[in-house]
Amino acid sequence: MKKAKRASKVRKVRLCDKYELEYNPLMDYMSKRGPGVALFFPAPYKVAAQSLGYQLLYALLIANGIRVERFTTDSCGRSLERGTPLHKFDLILVSASFELDYPHIASYLEKYNKGVKVIAGGLSVTANPIPILDSVDAVVLGDAEPFVPKLRDALFSGDLEALLSSESVVTKEKCGKKEVAELGPALAKEFLPLSVEPPWGKGFLVEVTRGCKWFCKFCLEGWVNKPFRERDLETVKEVIRQVNKPFEKIITISLSLGDYRKVKEYLEELVRLKEEKGIIGSIPSIRVDTLNEDIIELVSMIGQKTLTLAPETLIPEKASFLGKGFSQEILKSVIDTVRKHKLKVKAYMMLIPSEREEMAAEDAERLKEVVGKDAHVSVNPLIPKPWTPLQSAPIPKGVPFKPFLEKFKYVDVYPESWARLQAAISLAKVPVSKYLNIKKPEETLIELNSKGLINLKDLESWRLDYDEPWLYNEVGDRGLIAKLGLESYEVWKSIL
Ligand code: SF4
Repeated sequence: MKKAKRASKVRKVRLCDKYELEYNPLMDYMSKRGPGVALFFPAPYKVAAQSLGYQLLYALLIANGIRVERFTTDSCGRSLERGTPLHKFDLILVSASFELDYPHIASYLEKYNKGVKVIAGGLSVTANPIPILDSVDAVVLGDAEPFVPKLRDALFSGDLEALLSSESVVTKEKCGKKEVAELGPALAKEFLPLSVEPPWGKGFLVEVTRGCKWFCKFCLEGWVNKPFRERDLETVKEVIRQVNKPFEKIITISLSLGDYRKVKEYLEELVRLKEEKGIIGSIPSIRVDTLNEDIIELVSMIGQKTLTLAPETLIPEKASFLGKGFSQEILKSVIDTVRKHKLKVKAYMMLIPSEREEMAAEDAERLKEVVGKDAHVSVNPLIPKPWTPLQSAPIPKGVPFKPFLEKFKYVDVYPESWARLQAAISLAKVPVSKYLNIKKPEETLIELNSKGLINLKDLESWRLDYDEPWLYNEVGDRGLIAKLGLESYEVWKSIL
């Protein structure tokens, strides 16, 4: 019985007082002895399974011989693997990529941790580690690959202090420098929830590129994950070819797949996989100006039904402010080809600080002329983020969503109150994670302001000195973001 279960790689994982089934080819390799790490993801288990960062850390820790057990917000302070309490480990690692997850991190650690050292890593904390330093002891800046071997050495030598003083680690006492990995072999084994459905289906995550070569002035991922790196096609193919059921799709992870030199060959491999095994492909949003008919046709052949595009704006002045945007002609030629291949379109648009309703209406009208009123449109206010040129822009206030809501049938808007809170956390100059109440975003902002933890008036204005405390870490090109940010400010003044 035990043997059959091992061969199938299907296990039970514990979520509070119930059990779910999981496919997990990694658990056989997990060390049963030695120092232990609790790996926490601040969201439910089925969501954690679709985080590349979480999957990667889990696999890297196991590959480095570290005993690791997973924790999620629905695991009640006990590990998924064995129900081990959180405080029984030598170290807690937190995967933190989104500012609105910080309150979950703060409350989980407050409830279940009893004095174990905590290190966080991920996109948003690399950009600005300060807001979370009241909940964790340290933040590691940059990629996980160079960090995990150092972590292993520290754990086995019992010298965690040496780890905390290493160059890529930030604490309340010291700044840090981002570490960047070369892209080696892709993740070849991943766990998959079986009895609960992950949000994007039963997908295997394949990271094809990391970073982005473009300089869109609002984009946290683009700026913090620089430089752009590509994974060798043969390495990627090797991984894809061994993906089998229970996985039902390949989810491509790439900020700008259209820039991958082997994008066509990669998509052709996904088409083969669909034909041979019935496993469909899925790709993320692709930059409008990197698309051509070959790519669009291949996307339709991998089984994808909708192509996501993010033109952001079709108004040249807004495009100049954002560092991204396309003409109606360019977008129309892409959309015509997309429709020719029977794909639906989802378009992401952005509204800039203090944008007037007439300008939003003009942008919505231009988009409608190209995509039609039945297209799915997602409208987002600009959320200023650290280490981007637009980190100095005012946080959203009075965002004019109305023209989009009136002109399109299917519209998602990102709520202004969440955008404001997200921006304020992201740009915090002192630790704030313990004061956050995600259910009451506006009240939380007022409270943070009255406690002197943020300055709301300042956040709602331009802040042009580019001398914020997170910029003392080495994450990007400080001079370049200041130069581009000041250029955007001049454009903003001329159009609004
Ligand atoms: S918006 Fe897209 S293309 Fe622009 S920097 Fe970000 S990831 Fe790259």
